[in-house]
Amino acid sequence: MKIAVLKETAAGERRVAATPETAKKFVGLGAEVAIERGAGASASYADAAYEAAGAALGSRDEALRGADIILGVQGPDPASIAAAKQGAWLVAGLNPFGERSRVDAYAKAGIEALAMEFMPRITRAQSMDILSSQSNLAGYKAVLDAAAAYDRVFPMMMTAAGTVSAARVFVMGVGVAGLQAIATARRLGAQVSATDVRSATKEQIQSLGAKPIFVEDVKGIEGEGSGGYAGEMSDEYKKAQADLVSSHIAKQDIVITTALIPGRPAPRLISDAQLATMKPGSVIVDLAVEQGGNVEGAVAGEIVEKHGVRIVGHKNVPSRLAADASALFARNLYNFLAAFWDKGAGKPVLPEDDEIAAAIRLTQGGKVVNERLLA
Ligand code: NAD
Repeated sequence: MKIAVLKETAAGERRVAATPETAKKFVGLGAEVAIERGAGASASYADAAYEAAGAALGSRDEALRGADIILGVQGPDPASIAAAKQGAWLVAGLNPFGERSRVDAYAKAGIEALAMEFMPRITRAQSMDILSSQSNLAGYKAVLDAAAAYDRVFPMMMTAAGTVSAARVFVMGVGVAGLQAIATARRLGAQVSATDVRSATKEQIQSLGAKPIFVEDVKGIEGEGSGGYAGEMSDEYKKAQADLVSSHIAKQDIVITTALIPGRPAPRLISDAQLATMKPGSVIVDLAVEQGGNVEGAVAGEIVEKHGVRIVGHKNVPSRLAADASALFARNLYNFLAAFWDKGAGKPVLPEDDEIAAAIRLTQGGKVVNERLLA
Protein backbone atom coordinates (compact mmCIF):
# COMPACT_ATOMS: atom_id res chain seq x y z
CA MET A 1 0.00 0.00 0.00
CA LYS A 2 1.79 3.10 -1.22
CA ILE A 3 0.81 6.72 -0.53
CA ALA A 4 2.32 9.44 -2.71
CA VAL A 5 2.51 13.07 -1.59
CA LEU A 6 3.00 15.55 -4.41
CA LYS A 7 4.57 18.97 -4.46
CA GLU A 8 1.84 21.48 -5.25
CA THR A 9 2.12 23.15 -8.64
CA ALA A 10 -0.66 25.78 -8.54
CA ALA A 11 0.62 29.36 -8.49
CA GLY A 12 0.86 30.72 -4.96
CA GLU A 13 0.14 27.37 -3.30
CA ARG A 14 2.58 26.90 -0.42
CA ARG A 15 0.79 24.17 1.52
CA VAL A 16 1.53 20.44 1.47
CA ALA A 17 -0.92 17.55 1.93
CA ALA A 18 1.16 15.52 4.40
CA THR A 19 3.49 16.63 7.16
CA PRO A 20 6.22 14.55 8.81
CA GLU A 21 3.68 13.94 11.60
CA THR A 22 1.05 12.41 9.30
CA ALA A 23 3.67 10.60 7.20
CA LYS A 24 4.78 8.86 10.39
CA LYS A 25 1.20 7.95 11.24
CA PHE A 26 0.65 6.45 7.79
CA VAL A 27 3.85 4.44 8.19
CA GLY A 28 2.44 3.31 11.55
CA LEU A 29 -0.63 1.99 9.74
CA GLY A 30 1.67 -0.11 7.57
CA ALA A 31 1.74 2.14 4.48
CA GLU A 32 4.75 2.99 2.37
CA VAL A 33 4.92 6.80 2.05
CA ALA A 34 6.66 8.45 -0.92
CA ILE A 35 7.19 12.20 -0.88
CA GLU A 36 8.04 14.23 -3.96
CA ARG A 37 11.30 15.92 -3.07
CA GLY A 38 10.75 19.48 -1.77
CA ALA A 39 6.99 18.97 -1.32
CA GLY A 40 6.95 20.52 2.15
CA ALA A 41 9.66 23.14 1.73
CA SER A 42 7.38 26.16 1.22
CA ALA A 43 5.43 25.17 4.33
CA SER A 44 8.63 24.84 6.40
CA TYR A 45 8.68 21.02 6.40
CA ALA A 46 12.12 19.84 5.32
CA ASP A 47 12.77 16.71 3.29
CA ALA A 48 14.95 15.39 6.11
CA ALA A 49 12.00 15.53 8.52
CA TYR A 50 9.94 13.32 6.20
CA GLU A 51 12.84 10.90 5.90
CA ALA A 52 13.15 10.78 9.68
CA ALA A 53 9.45 9.98 9.80
CA GLY A 54 10.03 6.90 7.67
CA ALA A 55 9.01 8.27 4.25
CA ALA A 56 10.98 7.83 1.02
CA LEU A 57 11.91 10.86 -1.09
CA GLY A 58 11.95 10.86 -4.86
CA SER A 59 11.00 12.62 -8.08
CA ARG A 60 7.33 13.18 -8.88
CA ASP A 61 7.18 10.14 -11.13
CA GLU A 62 9.07 8.00 -8.62
CA ALA A 63 6.59 8.99 -5.91
CA LEU A 64 3.61 8.36 -8.21
CA ARG A 65 4.74 5.04 -9.66
CA GLY A 66 2.66 2.21 -8.19
CA ALA A 67 0.96 4.52 -5.66
CA ASP A 68 -2.47 3.41 -4.46
CA ILE A 69 -3.30 6.81 -2.99
CA ILE A 70 -2.14 10.25 -4.13
CA LEU A 71 -2.50 13.10 -1.65
CA GLY A 72 -2.71 16.74 -2.73
CA VAL A 73 -3.83 20.09 -1.38
CA GLN A 74 -5.25 21.09 -4.78
CA GLY A 75 -6.01 18.82 -7.72
CA PRO A 76 -2.91 18.26 -9.89
CA ASP A 77 -2.90 18.86 -13.62
CA PRO A 78 -4.03 15.44 -14.97
CA ALA A 79 -1.04 15.37 -17.36
CA SER A 80 1.32 15.73 -14.41
CA ILE A 81 0.10 12.47 -12.85
CA ALA A 82 0.19 10.36 -15.99
CA ALA A 83 2.55 7.96 -14.20
CA ALA A 84 -0.21 7.05 -11.71
CA LYS A 85 -1.72 3.61 -11.95
CA GLN A 86 -5.32 2.83 -12.92
CA GLY A 87 -7.66 2.86 -9.94
CA ALA A 88 -5.38 5.01 -7.76
CA TRP A 89 -7.23 7.31 -5.39
CA LEU A 90 -6.62 11.03 -5.64
CA VAL A 91 -7.48 12.62 -2.28
CA ALA A 92 -7.34 16.44 -2.37
CA GLY A 93 -9.31 19.66 -2.52
CA LEU A 94 -10.39 19.26 -6.14
CA ASN A 95 -12.57 22.36 -6.66
CA PRO A 96 -15.07 20.15 -8.54
CA PHE A 97 -17.33 22.96 -9.80
CA GLY A 98 -14.47 25.24 -10.85
CA GLU A 99 -12.26 22.52 -12.36
CA ARG A 100 -14.90 20.34 -13.99
CA SER A 101 -12.77 19.49 -17.03
CA ARG A 102 -10.06 18.12 -14.74
CA VAL A 103 -12.60 15.88 -13.05
CA ASP A 104 -13.50 14.48 -16.48
CA ALA A 105 -9.81 13.94 -17.21
CA TYR A 106 -9.28 12.08 -13.92
CA ALA A 107 -12.21 9.81 -14.82
CA LYS A 108 -10.76 9.17 -18.26
CA ALA A 109 -7.39 8.29 -16.76
CA GLY A 110 -9.03 5.75 -14.43
CA ILE A 111 -8.23 7.79 -11.32
CA GLU A 112 -10.72 7.59 -8.46
CA ALA A 113 -11.01 11.24 -7.43
CA LEU A 114 -12.19 12.02 -3.89
CA ALA A 115 -13.00 15.70 -3.30
CA MET A 116 -12.32 16.55 0.31
CA GLU A 117 -14.32 19.80 0.14
CA PHE A 118 -17.47 17.73 -0.45
CA MET A 119 -17.08 16.17 3.00
CA PRO A 120 -20.57 16.20 4.56
CA ARG A 121 -21.05 18.48 7.58
CA ILE A 122 -21.81 15.63 9.98
CA THR A 123 -20.31 14.99 13.41
CA ARG A 124 -18.40 11.89 12.27
CA ALA A 125 -16.66 13.88 9.55
CA GLN A 126 -15.72 16.99 11.53
CA SER A 127 -12.09 15.92 11.94
CA MET A 128 -11.85 15.34 8.16
CA ASP A 129 -13.31 18.68 7.11
CA ILE A 130 -10.77 20.72 5.13
CA LEU A 131 -13.22 23.57 4.57
CA SER A 132 -13.50 24.10 8.31
CA SER A 133 -9.81 23.76 9.13
CA GLN A 134 -8.77 26.11 6.35
CA SER A 135 -11.62 28.64 6.77
CA ASN A 136 -10.81 28.97 10.43
CA LEU A 137 -7.26 30.03 9.59
CA ALA A 138 -8.48 32.29 6.77
CA GLY A 139 -10.78 34.11 9.18
CA TYR A 140 -7.90 34.72 11.55
CA LYS A 141 -5.51 35.85 8.82
CA ALA A 142 -8.14 38.16 7.28
CA VAL A 143 -8.18 40.21 10.47
CA LEU A 144 -4.38 40.41 10.55
CA ASP A 145 -4.35 41.40 6.88
CA ALA A 146 -6.92 44.10 7.65
CA ALA A 147 -4.84 45.34 10.57
CA ALA A 148 -1.75 45.49 8.36
CA ALA A 149 -3.52 47.59 5.73
CA TYR A 150 -5.11 49.90 8.32
CA ASP A 151 -3.29 53.06 9.30
CA ARG A 152 -4.80 53.10 12.76
CA VAL A 153 -4.88 50.75 15.75
CA PHE A 154 -7.48 48.18 16.77
CA PRO A 155 -7.73 48.60 20.55
CA MET A 156 -8.68 51.74 22.43
CA MET A 157 -5.48 53.23 23.84
CA MET A 158 -5.34 55.78 26.62
CA THR A 159 -1.93 57.37 26.42
CA ALA A 160 -0.24 60.42 27.86
CA ALA A 161 -0.66 62.02 24.46
CA GLY A 162 -4.41 61.39 24.45
CA THR A 163 -6.89 58.65 23.71
CA VAL A 164 -7.11 56.64 20.49
CA SER A 165 -10.51 55.06 19.91
CA ALA A 166 -11.10 51.38 19.15
CA ALA A 167 -11.59 50.26 15.55
CA ARG A 168 -15.08 49.22 14.50
CA VAL A 169 -15.03 45.89 12.69
CA PHE A 170 -18.01 44.46 10.82
CA VAL A 171 -17.96 40.78 9.79
CA MET A 172 -20.34 39.75 7.00
CA GLY A 173 -20.98 36.01 6.78
CA VAL A 174 -20.62 34.15 10.07
CA GLY A 175 -19.61 30.61 9.08
CA VAL A 176 -16.36 29.09 10.25
CA ALA A 177 -14.19 31.93 8.86
CA GLY A 178 -16.50 34.67 10.12
CA LEU A 179 -16.62 33.29 13.65
CA GLN A 180 -12.83 33.17 13.82
CA ALA A 181 -12.64 36.69 12.36
CA ILE A 182 -14.97 37.95 15.11
CA ALA A 183 -12.93 36.21 17.81
CA THR A 184 -9.63 37.51 16.42
CA ALA A 185 -10.84 41.10 16.03
CA ARG A 186 -12.18 40.99 19.61
CA ARG A 187 -8.82 39.72 20.87
CA LEU A 188 -7.16 42.67 19.19
CA GLY A 189 -9.52 44.99 21.05
CA ALA A 190 -11.88 46.09 18.27
CA GLN A 191 -15.60 46.81 18.65
CA VAL A 192 -17.14 44.06 16.55
CA SER A 193 -20.51 43.59 14.86
CA ALA A 194 -21.56 40.86 12.43
CA THR A 195 -24.33 39.69 10.14
CA ASP A 196 -25.43 36.54 8.31
CA VAL A 197 -28.54 35.28 6.52
CA ARG A 198 -28.79 32.30 8.87
CA SER A 199 -30.57 33.41 12.01
CA ALA A 200 -28.87 30.61 13.99
CA THR A 201 -25.68 32.68 13.91
CA LYS A 202 -27.18 35.48 16.02
CA GLU A 203 -26.51 33.67 19.28
CA GLN A 204 -23.02 32.65 18.14
CA ILE A 205 -22.19 36.30 17.41
CA GLN A 206 -23.41 37.35 20.84
CA SER A 207 -21.53 34.57 22.58
CA LEU A 208 -18.30 35.96 21.13
CA GLY A 209 -19.09 39.39 22.55
CA ALA A 210 -20.03 40.99 19.22
CA LYS A 211 -23.21 42.77 18.16
CA PRO A 212 -25.54 41.03 15.68
CA ILE A 213 -26.84 43.21 12.82
CA PHE A 214 -29.79 41.43 11.24
CA VAL A 215 -32.57 41.95 8.71
CA GLU A 216 -35.79 41.42 10.65
CA ASP A 217 -39.36 40.78 9.55
CA VAL A 218 -38.81 40.05 5.87
CA LYS A 219 -41.21 37.41 4.60
CA GLY A 220 -40.25 34.45 2.44
CA ILE A 221 -36.72 33.91 3.65
CA GLU A 222 -35.34 30.96 5.46
CA GLY A 223 -31.63 31.75 5.26
CA GLU A 224 -30.61 28.20 5.81
CA GLY A 225 -30.23 26.04 2.69
CA SER A 226 -29.20 22.40 2.66
CA GLY A 227 -26.50 20.97 4.94
CA GLY A 228 -26.42 24.10 7.12
CA TYR A 229 -25.18 26.21 4.22
CA ALA A 230 -26.77 29.45 3.08
CA GLY A 231 -29.22 29.44 0.16
CA GLU A 232 -29.92 32.14 -2.43
CA MET A 233 -32.05 34.90 -0.87
CA SER A 234 -35.29 36.50 -2.15
CA ASP A 235 -35.16 39.92 -3.86
CA GLU A 236 -37.09 41.42 -0.95
CA TYR A 237 -34.49 40.13 1.47
CA LYS A 238 -31.62 41.36 -0.68
CA LYS A 239 -33.08 44.88 -0.71
CA ALA A 240 -33.63 44.90 3.05
CA GLN A 241 -30.11 43.63 3.58
CA ALA A 242 -28.65 46.31 1.28
CA ASP A 243 -30.49 49.06 3.23
CA LEU A 244 -29.25 47.69 6.53
CA VAL A 245 -25.68 47.41 5.28
CA SER A 246 -25.77 50.95 3.87
CA SER A 247 -26.64 52.50 7.20
CA HIS A 248 -24.20 50.37 9.19
CA ILE A 249 -21.21 50.31 6.91
CA ALA A 250 -20.65 54.07 6.83
CA LYS A 251 -19.69 53.88 10.52
CA GLN A 252 -17.22 51.01 10.15
CA ASP A 253 -13.43 51.10 9.92
CA ILE A 254 -12.89 47.49 8.89
CA VAL A 255 -15.22 45.11 7.05
CA ILE A 256 -14.42 41.41 6.61
CA THR A 257 -16.66 39.61 4.10
CA THR A 258 -16.80 35.80 3.99
CA ALA A 259 -20.20 35.02 2.42
CA LEU A 260 -20.34 32.00 0.15
CA ILE A 261 -23.09 29.90 -1.40
CA PRO A 262 -21.84 26.44 -2.43
CA GLY A 263 -21.73 25.90 -6.20
CA ARG A 264 -22.72 29.50 -6.99
CA PRO A 265 -20.92 32.81 -7.33
CA ALA A 266 -20.47 34.60 -4.00
CA PRO A 267 -23.36 36.96 -3.15
CA ARG A 268 -22.64 40.66 -3.73
CA LEU A 269 -22.87 42.34 -0.33
CA ILE A 270 -21.21 45.73 -0.85
CA SER A 271 -21.79 47.92 -3.90
CA ASP A 272 -19.57 50.70 -5.16
CA ALA A 273 -22.11 53.26 -3.90
CA GLN A 274 -21.98 51.75 -0.40
CA LEU A 275 -18.20 51.76 -0.54
CA ALA A 276 -18.30 55.47 -1.25
CA THR A 277 -20.07 56.11 2.08
CA MET A 278 -17.18 54.63 4.08
CA LYS A 279 -14.55 56.77 5.74
CA PRO A 280 -11.24 57.23 3.91
CA GLY A 281 -8.61 54.88 5.30
CA SER A 282 -11.18 52.15 5.99
CA VAL A 283 -10.24 48.63 4.98
CA ILE A 284 -12.28 45.79 3.51
CA VAL A 285 -10.99 42.22 3.29
CA ASP A 286 -12.98 40.15 0.79
CA LEU A 287 -12.38 36.47 1.57
CA ALA A 288 -14.82 35.48 -1.20
CA VAL A 289 -12.82 37.30 -3.89
CA GLU A 290 -11.89 34.09 -5.74
CA GLN A 291 -15.55 33.04 -5.95
CA GLY A 292 -16.52 36.32 -7.63
CA GLY A 293 -16.26 38.55 -4.58
CA ASN A 294 -18.69 39.97 -2.02
CA VAL A 295 -17.43 43.48 -2.73
CA GLU A 296 -17.81 45.39 -5.99
CA GLY A 297 -14.37 46.31 -7.30
CA ALA A 298 -12.42 43.70 -5.30
CA VAL A 299 -9.63 42.19 -7.39
CA ALA A 300 -8.31 38.68 -6.69
CA GLY A 301 -4.65 38.80 -5.70
CA GLU A 302 -4.53 42.58 -5.24
CA ILE A 303 -5.07 45.38 -2.76
CA VAL A 304 -6.96 48.13 -4.57
CA GLU A 305 -8.07 51.54 -3.35
CA LYS A 306 -11.52 52.91 -4.21
CA HIS A 307 -13.09 56.03 -2.71
CA GLY A 308 -10.19 56.07 -0.25
CA VAL A 309 -11.07 52.56 0.97
CA ARG A 310 -8.52 49.76 0.68
CA ILE A 311 -10.00 46.52 -0.58
CA VAL A 312 -7.79 43.54 0.21
CA GLY A 313 -8.32 40.57 -2.13
CA HIS A 314 -5.59 38.08 -1.28
CA LYS A 315 -5.95 34.75 -3.03
CA ASN A 316 -5.68 31.47 -1.16
CA VAL A 317 -5.51 32.98 2.31
CA PRO A 318 -4.87 29.65 4.12
CA SER A 319 -1.68 29.28 2.07
CA ARG A 320 -0.48 32.52 3.71
CA LEU A 321 -0.27 30.46 6.94
CA ALA A 322 1.27 27.53 5.11
CA ALA A 323 2.80 25.64 8.05
CA ASP A 324 -0.28 25.50 10.28
CA ALA A 325 -2.68 25.25 7.35
CA SER A 326 -0.73 22.22 6.10
CA ALA A 327 -0.62 20.66 9.57
CA LEU A 328 -4.42 20.83 9.87
CA PHE A 329 -5.09 19.89 6.24
CA ALA A 330 -2.75 16.90 6.52
CA ARG A 331 -4.51 15.75 9.70
CA ASN A 332 -7.88 16.04 7.93
CA LEU A 333 -6.60 13.70 5.20
CA TYR A 334 -5.07 11.32 7.72
CA ASN A 335 -8.24 11.25 9.85
CA PHE A 336 -10.28 10.42 6.76
CA LEU A 337 -8.05 7.58 5.55
CA ALA A 338 -7.47 6.18 9.04
CA ALA A 339 -11.22 6.11 9.74
CA PHE A 340 -11.73 3.82 6.74
CA TRP A 341 -8.56 1.77 7.23
CA ASP A 342 -9.22 -1.94 6.94
CA LYS A 343 -6.52 -3.69 8.96
CA GLY A 344 -7.04 -7.02 7.20
CA ALA A 345 -6.74 -5.47 3.75
CA GLY A 346 -3.90 -3.17 4.85
CA LYS A 347 -5.54 -0.22 3.10
CA PRO A 348 -8.58 2.04 3.40
CA VAL A 349 -11.84 0.67 2.05
CA LEU A 350 -14.86 2.87 1.30
CA PRO A 351 -18.15 1.00 1.68
CA GLU A 352 -20.44 1.73 -1.29
CA ASP A 353 -23.33 2.77 0.93
CA ASP A 354 -21.32 5.06 3.19
CA GLU A 355 -22.53 8.67 3.42
CA ILE A 356 -19.01 10.11 3.35
CA ALA A 357 -17.93 7.98 0.38
CA ALA A 358 -21.03 8.94 -1.60
CA ALA A 359 -20.54 12.64 -0.88
CA ILE A 360 -16.86 12.94 -1.80
CA ARG A 361 -16.43 10.39 -4.60
CA LEU A 362 -16.30 12.22 -7.93
CA THR A 363 -15.15 9.49 -10.30
CA GLN A 364 -15.21 5.71 -10.33
CA GLY A 365 -14.71 3.07 -13.02
CA GLY A 366 -13.83 5.68 -15.64
CA LYS A 367 -16.97 7.78 -15.06
CA VAL A 368 -18.03 10.89 -13.19
CA VAL A 369 -20.41 9.55 -10.54
CA ASN A 370 -21.00 12.41 -8.10
CA GLU A 371 -24.64 13.52 -7.86
CA ARG A 372 -23.75 17.18 -7.35
CA LEU A 373 -21.79 17.22 -10.60
CA LEU A 374 -24.39 15.28 -12.56
CA ALA A 375 -27.36 17.32 -11.31
P1 NAD B 1 -19.66 29.18 3.95
O1 NAD B 1 -18.18 29.32 3.85
O2 NAD B 1 -20.39 28.35 2.95
O3 NAD B 1 -20.33 30.63 3.98
C1 NAD B 1 -19.89 31.61 4.90
C2 NAD B 1 -21.07 32.27 5.57
O4 NAD B 1 -21.67 33.19 4.67
C3 NAD B 1 -22.20 31.31 6.01
O5 NAD B 1 -22.43 31.47 7.39
C4 NAD B 1 -23.38 31.78 5.17
O6 NAD B 1 -24.62 31.62 5.86
C5 NAD B 1 -23.05 33.24 4.94
N1 NAD B 1 -23.80 33.88 3.84
C6 NAD B 1 -24.15 33.38 2.63
N2 NAD B 1 -24.84 34.31 1.91
C7 NAD B 1 -24.89 35.43 2.69
C8 NAD B 1 -25.46 36.72 2.50
N3 NAD B 1 -26.13 37.06 1.39
N4 NAD B 1 -25.32 37.63 3.52
C9 NAD B 1 -24.67 37.31 4.66
N5 NAD B 1 -24.11 36.11 4.88
C10 NAD B 1 -24.22 35.18 3.92
O7 NAD B 1 -20.03 28.65 5.40
P2 NAD B 1 -19.24 27.60 6.29
O8 NAD B 1 -18.25 28.30 7.13
O9 NAD B 1 -18.76 26.51 5.43
O10 NAD B 1 -20.40 27.07 7.23
C11 NAD B 1 -21.62 26.57 6.66
C12 NAD B 1 -22.42 25.81 7.70
O11 NAD B 1 -21.80 24.56 8.00
C13 NAD B 1 -22.57 26.49 9.04
O12 NAD B 1 -23.89 26.22 9.47
C14 NAD B 1 -21.58 25.81 9.93
O13 NAD B 1 -21.91 25.89 11.30
C15 NAD B 1 -21.73 24.41 9.41
N6 NAD B 1 -20.57 23.54 9.71
C16 NAD B 1 -20.81 22.27 10.20
C17 NAD B 1 -19.74 21.42 10.42
C18 NAD B 1 -19.98 20.03 10.93
O14 NAD B 1 -20.97 19.78 11.57
N7 NAD B 1 -19.12 19.09 10.60
C19 NAD B 1 -18.45 21.82 10.15
C20 NAD B 1 -18.25 23.12 9.64
C21 NAD B 1 -19.32 23.95 9.41
